[in-house]
Amino acid sequence: MSDRASDVIIIGGGIIGASVALELQRRGASVRVLERGEPGREASWAGAGMLAAQDPDTPECLRPLARASAEIYPDWVSELEQESGLSADLRCEGTIYLTQEKKEGLGPPLSDADVKSREGFLSKAPFAYFTTEASVDPRALMAVAVAAAKKGGIVISHEHHVTAIETSGNQAVGVRLGNQTVSANVIINCAGAWTGEVVGGEIETHPVKGQMLSVVPVNSREVPLKHVVRGDDVYLVPRSDGRILIGATVERVGFDKKVDAETILKMHRAAMELAPKIGEMRIHESWAGLRPGSPDKLPILGETGLKNYFAATGHYRNGILLAPVTARIMADVINGDTPQFDISRFTPSRFS
Ligand SMILES: Cc1cc2nc3c(=O)[nH]c(=O)nc-3n(C[C@H](O)[C@H](O)[C@H](O)COP(=O)(O)OP(=O)(O)OC[C@H]3O[C@@H](n4cnc5c(N)ncnc54)[C@H](O)[C@@H]3O)c2cc1C
Repeated sequence: MSDRASDVIIIGGGIIGASVALELQRRGASVRVLERGEPGREASWAGAGMLAAQDPDTPECLRPLARASAEIYPDWVSELEQESGLSADLRCEGTIYLTQEKKEGLGPPLSDADVKSREGFLSKAPFAYFTTEASVDPRALMAVAVAAAKKGGIVISHEHHVTAIETSGNQAVGVRLGNQTVSANVIINCAGAWTGEVVGGEIETHPVKGQMLSVVPVNSREVPLKHVVRGDDVYLVPRSDGRILIGATVERVGFDKKVDAETILKMHRAAMELAPKIGEMRIHESWAGLRPGSPDKLPILGETGLKNYFAATGHYRNGILLAPVTARIMADVINGDTPQFDISRFTPSRFS
């Protein structure tokens, strides 16, 4: 790779880095994405892809962004699909919540008959709710985003591990790759759980491990589930190719992606309690990924203490959902425009 300066360097080729790159390129910037391994093979590969904009557990201050992102998702995906010629498997069937306790903020509960008419194979639960929340296949979405980015002229470099930010005074002027410096006017750290490992202009994230598994039908391609189903212990996310994803653990165990058989079987059992037909399916795959957590569980968006060095990270459990709105916010901030949303709760400086 030459050290020719580009307008923008993005550190990290996950869904956040790719989305921000696409938006900046659309607004006229020349963009390079530097990815340590393969683009989209970390959290953005491991995610379930629920677009849970109405999740009652989402912090209040994040809800406007979550709702806005869900609203722009269909057009955003459709544009990228047209540019790439690939599909991200966006499914807009909605989500059924099945819970032991009453949940506020999900609208009126469904009757048993309502649940049965929407989804034939679910167990009964004391409370059921329906939301319009959609889902997407994050692996397919990454392929779509990377193909669209490359088509649009964005350079995405694999195996380019950024170790530090190069500075001049209190200003970022480039990044360090081994013993090479690559200069840029703007640098954005989108390195997910590894954000804090880049030396200079420290930004704090930590890994939050999530283990998952998927099951597939044994004989037919008929999927016994149409909606996303969210129980108290596990959720089920159907894909159009017949897989059903079951997830996920939330573990603070450092940079550890080991899959534990006992944990996987426990989630499998919990899934069968929600939908007994899962027991007739074959376990297809199990995996783990590292969500980018932040000290207050909120994303970190905006300029850091170093001029021209920005962060778009810490999306924790909602990075797939928040990708399009993050891209717009970051493009506004970098271009000196006022973002449509109040991002004062998300600034990197809140921790200093
Ligand atoms: C099990 C699980 C289930 C999830 N389910 C959902 C869900 O249903 N809905 C939802 O919205 N979100 C979900 N998430 C969260 C979502 O996947 C993440 O928030 C999102 O993928 C974060 O994207 P990212 O681009 O910030 O991080 P990543 O995808 O991890 O990308 C960061 C990239 O930076 C690269 N990198 C790191 N350090 C460097 C460096 N120094 N130099 C160059 N490159 C570097 C990494 O290799 C990586 O490719 C889930 C996550 C997990 C693990």
